[in-house]
Amino acid sequence: MSFAAELEKLLGVAVITDPDITATYSKDQAPFAKSAPAAAVLLARSTEEISKALAFCSEHNIPVVTRGAGSGLSGGANADSQSLVISLEKMNEILEIDPDNQFARVQAGVINLDLDTAVKEYGMAYLPDPASRDWSTLGGNVATNAGGMCCVKYGVTSHHVRSLTVVLSTGEVIEVGKSTKKFVTTLDLMHLFIGSEGTLGIITEITLNLVPRPNNPATLIATFPSITQAAAASTQLLKYRPSMLEIIDQTTLRAVEEWHPLGFEVAGSILIMQLDENIELGEQALATCNQHSMIDGMFTTDISEATDLIRVRKLAYPALERLGATLLDDVAIPVTKIAEFVSQVEALALRHSLTIGIFGHAGDGNMHPTIVHDHGDVEGEKRAKLAFSEIVQIAQTLGGTASGEHGIGSIKRELVANEVSATVIEIQRGIKKLLDPHGILNPGKKLP
Ligand SMILES: Cc1cc2nc3c(=O)[nH]c(=O)nc-3n(C[C@H](O)[C@H](O)[C@H](O)COP(=O)(O)OP(=O)(O)OC[C@H]3O[C@@H](n4cnc5c(N)ncnc54)[C@H](O)[C@@H]3O)c2cc1C
Repeated sequence: MSFAAELEKLLGVAVITDPDITATYSKDQAPFAKSAPAAAVLLARSTEEISKALAFCSEHNIPVVTRGAGSGLSGGANADSQSLVISLEKMNEILEIDPDNQFARVQAGVINLDLDTAVKEYGMAYLPDPASRDWSTLGGNVATNAGGMCCVKYGVTSHHVRSLTVVLSTGEVIEVGKSTKKFVTTLDLMHLFIGSEGTLGIITEITLNLVPRPNNPATLIATFPSITQAAAASTQLLKYRPSMLEIIDQTTLRAVEEWHPLGFEVAGSILIMQLDENIELGEQALATCNQHSMIDGMFTTDISEATDLIRVRKLAYPALERLGATLLDDVAIPVTKIAEFVSQVEALALRHSLTIGIFGHAGDGNMHPTIVHDHGDVEGEKRAKLAFSEIVQIAQTLGGTASGEHGIGSIKRELVANEVSATVIEIQRGIKKLLDPHGILNPGKKLP
């Protein structure tokens, strides 16, 4: 009997084995990460079901890949032909909203935006805002420690998690953290699971911070003759406590303007900043930009005008995608190194005869160089993959890191050792061994 048939018998529910369907559950959005249709897919409905499935997989040494929405960009949710994929998509219930204690408890398959929409009627917000928030799951956000545009002020997902229910590889269910605002009773095991990319346990329930809904933001947009000047201005703008601070380079701006002319001068670079408090500081912020040779700039409290202006940022990636096949990179560097980073990436683009558009979260130094090559150009693809790794190495030599928010998955594992000591790698391996002794959870991901 196949393991899928045995698992069906054990759980009393159907397990998907049709390769046409399993293929659709076996790959995320990373363009060049390896994958193969999984042997079987379980659309889990409860923590208990996942617990039984993991105990079974542990006993039979079956690799398990946990899947939220598959919006990941690092191959983290990719399967191979031996694996069982456990999808959390059916575990999408908001279990509790407690506006007084300012938390919500959810199943891990709840879509990020669905939670934020549900808490609006209480005047509350769930803040972390990955650009995929309308389809990525909160479990996936926790497992990758997802970021977004508001992180410059409000921090990444880990700053908003209070407790987790986790199923360990043996099937044992544990709770880490507490629904209280403060908790120092145990070692901070909760943060071990945040960003663990499905390698330490399956997160089935999450208690998340809610906050009173921020005010409608005011928006500043400014163009600069060079990325160096824009980057220098961005570090000075941090003192206004922006709730968004984004940078877009000339290559990306040109791609946007050629597609959807928004009236921007295709100069060196653009900064977009939002303030959701102290908006009276907007004029001072413009003056700060002026000190860095701003060509043109405006500050508006009009929401529809702002929506038009920030379209340039929203269109950045799709505009580059129109130019060819893309590889979207993700690194984090000290904010004071952004200009140097960009000029080194521009030199790299010239060396490899590639187009590389750069945009990102200037406020926290999380940059997304996007490498473009012609569709079907095999040599171009090879150069693009090389450039992808070299961009990480540039970030690392500037004191930065291999990933700011998309994770390591399967595509950046060999780059981790450049910035992490052998001792730290060994500690991680020890933790993995303790929590997943048979190594069944997402093998070949995250850890170098
Ligand atoms: C257009 C686009 C925009 C994006 N913008 C951003 C952005 O602004 N910021 C950002 O950080 N990311 C962004 N991403 C990447 C992606 O959306 C995030 O990594 C997201 O958190 C993944 O959530 P998911 O539910 O799709 O998880 P998946 O892709 O299904 O899984 C991601 C990883 O988490 C693991 N995992 C998933 N659920 C669980 C669980 N319940 N328990 C344990 N492990 C689990 C998987 O095994 C895998 O390793 C973007 C992606 C796209 C396609």
